[in-house]
Amino acid sequence: MLNFLKTHFGFDQFRPWQAEIIRHVIAQKDAFVLMPTGGGKSLCFQFPALKMPGVTLVISPLIALMKDQVDALQANGIPAAFINSTLTRAEIDQIQTDALKGRIKILYAAPERLILPEFQLFLKQITVSLLAIDEAHCISEWGHDFRPEYRNLKMLRNLFPHVPALALTATATQKVREDIIGQLNLEKAKIFISSFNRPNLTYAVLPQKNSYGQLINIFRDHPDQAAIVYCFSRKDTESLAEQLCEEGFKALPYHAGLESETRRTNQEKFIRDEVQIIVATIAFGMGIDKPDVRLVIHYHLPKSIEGYYQETGRAGRDGLPSDCILFYSYADTMKQQFFIRQIENERLRQNASQKLDQMVQYCELATCRRSHLLAYFGEDHQPEICGGCDICLSPPEEIDATIITQKIMSAMVRTGQRFGTNYVIDLLLGAKNKKIIEREHHKLSVYGIVDDFSKEDLRFITSQLLSRGLITKNGDGYPGLQLSPRGHDFLKQREAIHLRKLKSITKLSHPSGAVEDGYDRELFEKLRLLRKTIADDQEVPPFVVFGDLALRQMALYLPQSAENFSRISGVGEAKLKQYGATFTEAIQTYAQENNLPEKKVPVKKSATPRRPQALGSTHLETQKLVQKKMSVAEIASQRGLTCATIAAHLEKLVSAGAQIDLGYLRPSDENFAKIKAAFEKSGGMSLSPVQKMLGEQFSYEELRLARLFLKD
Ligand code: ADP
Ligand code: ZN
Repeated sequence: MLNFLKTHFGFDQFRPWQAEIIRHVIAQKDAFVLMPTGGGKSLCFQFPALKMPGVTLVISPLIALMKDQVDALQANGIPAAFINSTLTRAEIDQIQTDALKGRIKILYAAPERLILPEFQLFLKQITVSLLAIDEAHCISEWGHDFRPEYRNLKMLRNLFPHVPALALTATATQKVREDIIGQLNLEKAKIFISSFNRPNLTYAVLPQKNSYGQLINIFRDHPDQAAIVYCFSRKDTESLAEQLCEEGFKALPYHAGLESETRRTNQEKFIRDEVQIIVATIAFGMGIDKPDVRLVIHYHLPKSIEGYYQETGRAGRDGLPSDCILFYSYADTMKQQFFIRQIENERLRQNASQKLDQMVQYCELATCRRSHLLAYFGEDHQPEICGGCDICLSPPEEIDATIITQKIMSAMVRTGQRFGTNYVIDLLLGAKNKKIIEREHHKLSVYGIVDDFSKEDLRFITSQLLSRGLITKNGDGYPGLQLSPRGHDFLKQREAIHLRKLKSITKLSHPSGAVEDGYDRELFEKLRLLRKTIADDQEVPPFVVFGDLALRQMALYLPQSAENFSRISGVGEAKLKQYGATFTEAIQTYAQENNLPEKKVPVKKSATPRRPQALGSTHLETQKLVQKKMSVAEIASQRGLTCATIAAHLEKLVSAGAQIDLGYLRPSDENFAKIKAAFEKSGGMSLSPVQKMLGEQFSYEELRLARLFLKD
């Protein structure tokens, strides 16, 4: 399977679950695949399509994307085509003839075509081996993107009762999932759920102060890197795009109010690397499949965690490190609250308000953002291994917050524990709030007793008290803050408390040394230009020729022979033949001019590069104990931490290149062989599939520890 993967798709490794899904599909069994954006869903039907006798019919709602997908397949030498309303009658006839003659393996079609009698007749004449239903959530009214035409698929299932079906989506809510299974008759399908973690994405929340200046700095730090900036309103997108252009960047707006032709060309320019930045409302996204978006910036607050996750998901589909930055100030929520108050339906209004609240909570976190996001979607994640959010990368400083906490709590108690965060904070800061005066709360002793913290600081502290369970929110709609039993104890016992202080960072600090980071920037730029010229010539988007990872590897290893070039990620047989000579020649010229040696391209073990991780004092403490040859359990108990945490420390130490000898922790040969086989079978380095395979035999920590030894 790996050879086949390299030959036809140019990849060295499967992403998590791809191998299992592919085997299952080739065995003609139904499957339902839940994978995040960028997880690699397409390969799950493209690979089997080549292995199965007839045609794989792919149903996709995104007509605009079909061409790019088919171009990408054809660039790999795979016979693929699409049939949709953008083609002429004659073109469609030609494709149907080709299909009847067995010259097409993968055929894309939009759902509305399925009810056309002539299309059905055509389908009956060819051998359909597999039915792939992309964006399967479109069949559900509960999803965010319901398409009535998707209901036609039921009929298609009846038309081909014995053809295996594969439904794929990145939308994971339970309700939608059940709906898809019911509608598509997938009760017997095996369900594959992969982790929604995106290890190559960094999440950061920056204060909204001077957000424009910060934005400019970010773009200066990321020259030529594709970025999507999300704004609140259509007007915002236009004015920001204009400002950015005046600043010298190439930016275009995108929103549902633009003429469809303008929308199409703006999107096209972005996909073809002719503009760097798209400034969009959330309308932008469904139709875009650009794998090398390096930055997703929320200039204004998103409406919900779901929306935020989906929008940030558009960054780094190709697996290279990419950043998701959100600008936040509490004042920004007022605008949204204003719109929420206009919603007439009470249930919808409350729902919107709750979603916004959750978003605010995310922005005001003092703990790992990735863990929080994943927990929101029902997944556990060890915070210690994140290393890719602003909190983990530069943890906020801790302060003695005993007195300020007491002040906040007494303000709550004095006002009867009925008021929300803003009211309590206004009271403490002595704000001339009309409601405070009306209620005569300005006469209370707590009025105006805080002058050493800002409003934002106080919100940050309050949110930590909430997440630590010292205070709670009661009621829906306008929830009031209340002391929890633990909060009461805290006050009564006069305990001390340490909390994190709001950071005043204005710039993202980045761990350097990412995978392929040492590549030659100048050569990379040259190759990018070459790629663009070829792409324009062939009228395809640049990523169809080669992805950024491939170019970075070329600029790092300078491969000049066909053999070495073929080892680059993304170079399969067809691309080697088509582009190999052009690229190796360009590389050779550059290498000679600059007197640089060619290096052998190593074959990658892991397909998704991880970010390098910063070491903290806690890791160094663990390192000391490892030097004393203590077991993981001993270290854990001496340090009062869990074994899982210690295992995570070891992993971090190794990935940061620390000099430690872990040999004594290596599992017995017999156990190691079992674990190694399971990892190989899983086709990736993720723990959960391996644990599922091995069952109770090994603990999570044992697997994690063993994984460290797989790399050599
Ligand atoms: P999804 O549909 O789940 O969002 P795609 O199928 O578009 O994801 O894949 C995302 C990106 O990952 C694409 O650029 C694709 O070429 C790449 N990709 C998929 N599988 C692999 C793999 N096994 N190794 C390397 N890259 C892969
Ligand atoms: Zn984190």
